[in-house]
Amino acid sequence: MGRKTPFATARQLEDIASTYPTPFYLYDEAGIRSTAQSVLDAFSWNPGYREFYAVKACPNPRIIQMLLDMGFGLDVSSECELQMAERLGVRGEKIMFSSNDTPSQEFAHAARLGATINLDDVTHIDTLLDVVDEVPRTVSLRLNPGEFPFANGIFGKPSEAKFGMTEEQLFDAVRRLMGLGVRDFGIHALLASNTVTNEYYPTLARTLFDVAARLHERLGAHVTFVNLSGGVGIDYRPEERPNDIFAIAEGVRRAYEDVLAPAGMGDVSVYTEMGRFITGPHGALVTRVIHEKHIYHDYLGVDACASDLMRPMLYDAYHHITVVGHEGEPADHVYDVTGALCENSDRLANARPLPECHPGDLLFIHDTGAHGHCMGYNYNGRLRHAELLLHEDGSVEMIRRAETPEDYFATLDVLEGWGAPAAESAGKAKPARP
Ligand SMILES: *Cc1c(COP(=O)(O)O)cnc(C)c1O
Repeated sequence: MGRKTPFATARQLEDIASTYPTPFYLYDEAGIRSTAQSVLDAFSWNPGYREFYAVKACPNPRIIQMLLDMGFGLDVSSECELQMAERLGVRGEKIMFSSNDTPSQEFAHAARLGATINLDDVTHIDTLLDVVDEVPRTVSLRLNPGEFPFANGIFGKPSEAKFGMTEEQLFDAVRRLMGLGVRDFGIHALLASNTVTNEYYPTLARTLFDVAARLHERLGAHVTFVNLSGGVGIDYRPEERPNDIFAIAEGVRRAYEDVLAPAGMGDVSVYTEMGRFITGPHGALVTRVIHEKHIYHDYLGVDACASDLMRPMLYDAYHHITVVGHEGEPADHVYDVTGALCENSDRLANARPLPECHPGDLLFIHDTGAHGHCMGYNYNGRLRHAELLLHEDGSVEMIRRAETPEDYFATLDVLEGWGAPAAESAGKAKPARP
């Protein structure tokens, strides 16, 4: 069985935890930069290649800025994500607006920013036309081919997914949009989630390149990009073989040479919208054991809960755990690692073999740099915690503070007496012993 090693030493983690109260998210700048660079290198064979980081995976401006500095674009899908791009000074074709069930005012906002708009359905042509002054020069269309060899638990079969349009609808959409004066087209699909295989992108690319070539041949459509979207996964389990982005990009290149080059379409740009692959491995939820409980199972109660990390509760997802400072010890105890929610499904790990743990131990929950903090919620009056960035020089920066009860009550300011902090606010208790 493989091993997973935290990106910070036990000493560093205890140091950080003595400055910032647990739990917190910690992101590794060096790791994010290195993965981002390998993605750029892997796809450098395609001159127009661009990665649009999926903002939803880790919507922290500090982290997104690092990726923008490396030449990434942004994939956004909601009003707040559009505003995130806008506040970061991103405009025009560096924004991919890939949404579904889209409110019309979000199309209007995306169009004002000059974003490339990816339509999830053929009927969205009218929704878009209703709110824009002129027909965009470029429109992207999201395909749902119904069948695809990569089905998995999170997405199910494409035919069972709500996303995208059928191929017939896509051809109708292109025909209509060409008639309306749209000049350039993009083709997009996201058909699986967290694929841990080097074959997903190449297989998808072949499918989409083939559609692009037929659009060109039958309708004379000018396809300028094919967007492979996200879905490239990470090895959450230590026994999994990590994806090799160079092998993946090489597989896409072969499909490109086989399908697009012979069709005279050697100028098509390849786009991706990876989120998980870029930041997933480079974030950790760091939490402290505050209770141990031995009934019919052995429980470790930690100071984080599903409000900090929903993936285990939502998808029964596995996140590897390292007990900080006990790395070399045998995992000869089996624990359920739980938070404080009044929900039995509030688990960060189930039946997990770990070294013997006691209150005070620090747990490093791996691979939470994507779809982690941002999925958190306030159920049970639990608050979301801080995000910290571990810089390459070893310094630590708080890049999001923890929520406070004032944040929790803020939206009640419509009720008299509820917007302001309570006179005797909580949190004055003696600090717990570490
Ligand atoms: C979620 C999502 C992504 C990112 O997916 P990952 O699996 O995190 O890479 C990209 N594009 C769209 C449209 C998405 O919804």
